[in-house]
Amino acid sequence: MEISKKPWPILSVCGIKKRIDTNPDFQRPAVWSRSQKQLLIDTIIRGYDIPKLYWRKIGSNPDKYDVVDGQQRLRSIFEYQNGEFPLSKDCDPIDDIDPSKMKYADLPDDLRLKFDTYSLDVIVLSATGEDEVREMFLRLQNGTTLKAQERRNAMPGNMRTFVKQLALHPFFGHCGFSNSRFTFDHVAAQLTAVELNGGPCNVKNSNLNTVYEKEVSFDPTSAKAKKIKRVLDFLLEAFPEKTPELERYSVMSLYSLVSHCMEKYVLQGRPKDLANWFLAFEAKRATEEELPEDQRDPEFLSYKERTSHSTDAQDSLEWRQDFLLRKFFEQVPDIQPKDNQRLFSHEQRLAIFRRDQGLCRVKTKCEGIKCEWDAWEADHITAWSKGGKTTVSNGQVACLPCNSSKGDR
Ligand SMILES: [Zn+2]
Repeated sequence: MEISKKPWPILSVCGIKKRIDTNPDFQRPAVWSRSQKQLLIDTIIRGYDIPKLYWRKIGSNPDKYDVVDGQQRLRSIFEYQNGEFPLSKDCDPIDDIDPSKMKYADLPDDLRLKFDTYSLDVIVLSATGEDEVREMFLRLQNGTTLKAQERRNAMPGNMRTFVKQLALHPFFGHCGFSNSRFTFDHVAAQLTAVELNGGPCNVKNSNLNTVYEKEVSFDPTSAKAKKIKRVLDFLLEAFPEKTPELERYSVMSLYSLVSHCMEKYVLQGRPKDLANWFLAFEAKRATEEELPEDQRDPEFLSYKERTSHSTDAQDSLEWRQDFLLRKFFEQVPDIQPKDNQRLFSHEQRLAIFRRDQGLCRVKTKCEGIKCEWDAWEADHITAWSKGGKTTVSNGQVACLPCNSSKGDR
């Protein structure tokens, strides 16, 4: 990388502002307050030092630059010179002149000259790879309050590129949360981590950083990468418009649920079923919230507990996925297994057991006794051998004596 350091008078910098990108994608969005901007301009007019600016040269004839560090400062300078804000209303005099509330055009020539000719220390990096620049940006930002996902967006490697791309998926735009400070990127990184792990895992910032480091050569055309997009496409079909119920934690859970079911069940044509179930679930949850605590469904209480904190911990994600899967299968029992599955899955067994309230429905050896969870069999109503499907609707609770008598026939 070639590095040149030159003093640039502010007026020269303002003269080429169209060729300077103050918002390349690894930078954070403008968040300076008016008073921070005013303080910077006041500092400049008094001739005090401000930190160096880092630019990356990205083109020649005419020269073009990305601002690697110093975006906020440069924007403030451009905005002041453009008359967009005045100095604060209680400035101390400068050379016996009171500059309070003065916009650029109001400055007496003495002060305007100080501003125009103030030298910015500009470090220009050229012949520099993008990853190298990101690396430098990370180092420059060290110790500041840059948020974790913004740091990850500046990390080199394929995972960063993949997640940034994923964050543009239109499904995120339909969620109940906004993309402030790269929230879409954050959630996209979390669900990528879950998919790579093959199921719920810890998705705290430190875990995500590890994934970015480990997956620097992640293949965006791999089966896992395609699966992630397929799940998001499915969710988009299910929620084709803005859905305020889609909180961050429910997006994570729905992602896990669809990703899991896609492996085992035929989900084709079922996006609407998923959406209807989810919205009904959310309505039921809202109703539960209004009941006195001792009258609420304990499982919904647990769900609330597990969605109020540590939602990025593995055990919380696992519990939520399991709970939502059971609720989903209760509501949509005719989901077809994908393969020639004979045995009922754990989720189906749960759904059957709950629907039948644990009561034996075969009743050849009993009157319909209540079974314990660890002492019953899921029985095909239409026998599997006669073409009966392994679905919740074709399943019933059989107590052990009835089940073995059925086998005898
Ligand atoms: Zn029985």
